[in-house]
Amino acid sequence: MVSVTNMTFDIVIIGGGVVGASIAYFLSKEEAAGKTIAVIEKDPSYQVGSTARSAGGIRQQFSTPENIRISKFAADFLKDITNHLSVDGDPVDVDFQEKGYLFLAQDQQIPVLYNNHQVQTQEGVSVQLLDPDDLARAYPWMTVSDLAGGSAGQQGEGWLDAYGLNQAFRKKAISQGVTFLKDEAFGLETAGKSVQAILLKERGRIACGTLVNAAGVMASTVAEWAGIDLAVRPRKRFVYSFSCRTPVENCPLTIDPSGVYFRPEGNQFITGCSPDPSKDPDCLDFEIDYSWFEEHIWPILAHRVPAFEAIKMENAWAGHYAYNLLDQNAVLGPHPEVSNFIFANGFSGHGLQQAPAVGRAISEIALTGEYQTLDLSRFSYERMITRSPLAEINVV
Ligand SMILES: Cc1cc2nc3c(=O)[nH]c(=O)nc-3n(C[C@H](O)[C@H](O)[C@H](O)COP(=O)(O)OP(=O)(O)OC[C@H]3O[C@@H](n4cnc5c(N)ncnc54)[C@H](O)[C@@H]3O)c2cc1C
Repeated sequence: MVSVTNMTFDIVIIGGGVVGASIAYFLSKEEAAGKTIAVIEKDPSYQVGSTARSAGGIRQQFSTPENIRISKFAADFLKDITNHLSVDGDPVDVDFQEKGYLFLAQDQQIPVLYNNHQVQTQEGVSVQLLDPDDLARAYPWMTVSDLAGGSAGQQGEGWLDAYGLNQAFRKKAISQGVTFLKDEAFGLETAGKSVQAILLKERGRIACGTLVNAAGVMASTVAEWAGIDLAVRPRKRFVYSFSCRTPVENCPLTIDPSGVYFRPEGNQFITGCSPDPSKDPDCLDFEIDYSWFEEHIWPILAHRVPAFEAIKMENAWAGHYAYNLLDQNAVLGPHPEVSNFIFANGFSGHGLQQAPAVGRAISEIALTGEYQTLDLSRFSYERMITRSPLAEINVV
């Protein structure tokens, strides 16, 4: 069905980051479906996409059942990753460090922490509520005097090698017959209410039966080619790495009440914090703001962990959230009018951990028109049109 001059694929995915590669893997796993699948990726080195620039975190501690179920699937998937993604019997290791997430709370945050805990335990997540004495015992390096409590995940939370997961999905998808094309899409050809073809800078036109938008921070540009206004924007985030001479043992990915997070990374630590929404412009550059670390983040780190008063900055990088302006949650599924155009966008700060479940879900939609396993219809495009946010309290 594929010819170089006039290519046609049943399903074309724009974007081969962790989300696009996962979708390609799940689609091609269904051999019986017999679909031809292509992924268009302009940067196979993955230097600028969000995935390799992420903090690599996975957590079960969300406030909406769907987000919890999505991450539960991811944790199970990661624990059995060789079974899923091995090619030619080679083991797959994405360095999943199941060392937990710890959400810290001050007085005013306790009701939310307790409400979230109720949802999480109803969903079967193993999370422990801690009072300040418990916190002091478990984490003797931490200042707890201004805390009212915390919530510590016991299983299925931690961090992993995001780039490694992206590559593992990609490699497995290729082994299952997916064609990855190094090229840049710059437009779509539409007829009536359907997408007919994708226009590529090098190869020209490739025709498709179904198009999947997995273009990360470029998602709204791709949508615009079909006349669709998708409220997803690139928002810059910084990650700083530092070393600390004093040992800080048994450190989970800790989220301070201020929103500053930190976690170990090998012998060092990484940290970051989302800015106030009023100081968070759309932005695609990679320039690093070191004053954000010195003036905002470091004082909070040094207060929370006195050992972090004496640290050495080692490295820093910038990456971008594909930020959903409506509710910082994913937009999943077909457009209500352009129905052969499927969205997997707007993951904001939690798309890495959502990639396995989203890959499966989008493959179900593309192949059968319905969710077969997890019902993710609350993430539908329709809510963007009716402006009905999916309230997720635990965003980082
Ligand atoms: C600093 C930071 C920390 C984060 N921390 C976490 C975390 O701890 N846990 C978590 O779950 N998530 C985290 N995230 C979010 C997570 O990284 C993203 O949600 C996830 O990587 C999104 O994957 P993606 O495949 O949609 O996007 P991407 O990885 O950006 O992939 C999109 C791909 O599309 C390609 N593309 C775009 N336009 C075109 C085009 N026109 N033609 C061809 N190719 C195109 C790009 O080259 C890119 O490779 C973080 C993000 C950042 C920036």
